Amino acid sequence: MDFGLTEAQNSIVDAVQGVVGNFDDGYWLKKDREGGFPEAFYAAMAEGGWLGIAVPEAYGGAGLGVTEAALMMMTVAGSGGAMTAASSIHMNIFGPKSIAVYGSESQKSRWLPEIVKGTYKMCFGVTEPDAGLDTTRIATKAQRDGDDYVVHGQKIWTSTAQVAEKIMLLARTAPRNAANPTAGLSLFYADLDRDAASIREIDKMGRKAVDSNEVFFDGMRIPVEDRIGEEGKGFRYLLDSLVPERILLAAEAIGIGKDALRRAARYAGERVVFRRPIGQNQSIQHPLAVNWAELEAALLSTLKAAWLYDKGRPCGVEANAAKYLAAEAGFNACKQSVSTHGGMGYAREFHVERLMREVMIPYLAPVSQQMALNFIAEHALDLPKSY
Ligand SMILES: Cc1cc2nc3c(=O)[nH]c(=O)nc-3n(C[C@H](O)[C@H](O)[C@H](O)COP(=O)(O)OP(=O)(O)OC[C@H]3O[C@@H](n4cnc5c(N)ncnc54)[C@H](O)[C@@H]3O)c2cc1C
Repeated sequence: MDFGLTEAQNSIVDAVQGVVGNFDDGYWLKKDREGGFPEAFYAAMAEGGWLGIAVPEAYGGAGLGVTEAALMMMTVAGSGGAMTAASSIHMNIFGPKSIAVYGSESQKSRWLPEIVKGTYKMCFGVTEPDAGLDTTRIATKAQRDGDDYVVHGQKIWTSTAQVAEKIMLLARTAPRNAANPTAGLSLFYADLDRDAASIREIDKMGRKAVDSNEVFFDGMRIPVEDRIGEEGKGFRYLLDSLVPERILLAAEAIGIGKDALRRAARYAGERVVFRRPIGQNQSIQHPLAVNWAELEAALLSTLKAAWLYDKGRPCGVEANAAKYLAAEAGFNACKQSVSTHGGMGYAREFHVERLMREVMIPYLAPVSQQMALNFIAEHALDLPKSY
C-alpha cells in the first residue's frame, strides 16, 4: 500500500498487515456470531508492540504520532475485523494520551508500560444516559473522603467494561457552574472495582465480541493518587484524548470502507449475469468509483488532521471534518458493497453486511455527525453556537 507516505510509515502499514493477516474472515465471522473478546488478536497486537505505538519511548512505547496510529488503525479495521478488531485495542491507543501529557511521573511509570504490554484492558467512562452529547451535564459524582474519592452514578455505552480491569473515568467533583460548565469535572484512571460497580451489557446491532455496557457505581473508591492532574480540570485533559479519538475513528471508517469496496470490486469482476460480469455495467462501476474517490478524499482529510495534531497545532475543525467525511464515505462504501453483491450482500458468508453494521459505529460515535457539523459551523464559519 502507498498513500504518498514516508518509507517508515509505509513499513508500519505493512508490518501491521503482517499481524492482522493472521486473523482471517472466518475468525471475525465466528466472533460476530458467538461473541467473546478477541483475546488472540489483542495478544498478537500486544506482542508486536503495537499497543504502545503512540506512547512515549521512555515508558516502553514507540513514541510515534497520531498519524502512525491512524494508519495502523485503518489497517486493523480494514483487515476484515472492522470495528471488532479496532475497538478491541482502541483504548490502549488513544486513552494514554491524557496520562502521558498530564499524569505525574509516578503515574506515567506506573500505568503506561502496563498499557503498552496489554497487561490490563481499559475502558472509557464518559457518556451518561441523561447527559448524551452534552458532556458538561454528566452527573456521576466523585466525592472526596480522606485519601479516596467515592463514586456514585451511572455511565452508558462503556465499551469493554466486561473484560476491563481499568477505567478512565470522567466524574463531577464540584457542582456544575453555568458560567464555566466544563470546570468541576475530574479525570481518573482507576481499578474497575466490580464489588462497587455493576455492569450490564447492552445487546447491540454489531461488534458483538466487543461489549458495550451500562455501568452503575455504588460507592466505588478511587485513591487520590489515581486522579490525573488537578481536581476539576478533567474535561480539559480529556480533550487531549478526544481529538486523536476522532482522527482514529475516521481512519477506522476509511479502513472498513476500503475493505467493503475491495470486496465489491472483486465480486463485480467475478459475478456473471446476462453473460457479462456485472462490473461491466456503469451503474455498478460508477457508484464504486465514487466510493473510491470519497474514501481517498476522507483519507487526505484524516491525514491532514493527524499531521496538524502531531505538529502541536490546533486541529479541532480538521478532526471533526475528517470524522464526518470518513463516516459518510465508509458508510456509503459499505452500503454500495452490499448492493453490488445483490442477494449475497445479505448473506453473512460474504461479510459485507457485517461491515455495514459495524461502520455505523464511527457514524454515531464518539461524536455524532450532527455535532461534528455543529463544531465546523461554529469554529470554521464563525456561525452562532446552535446548542
Ligand atoms: C458501539 C458504541 C460504543 C461506544 N463506546 C463508548 C465508550 O466506550 N465510552 C463512552 O463514554 N461512550 C461510548 N459510546 C457513546 C457514544 O460516544 C455516544 O453514543 C455518542 O456520543 C452519542 O451520544 P448519545 O447516544 O447520548 O446521543 P444524544 O446526545 O442523545 O443525541 C441523539 C441524536 O441527537 C442529535 N443531537 C443532539 N443534540 C443536538 C444538537 N444540539 N444539534 C444537532 N443534533 C443534536 C445527535 O447528533 C444524535 O444524532 C459508544 C457508543 C456506541 C454506539
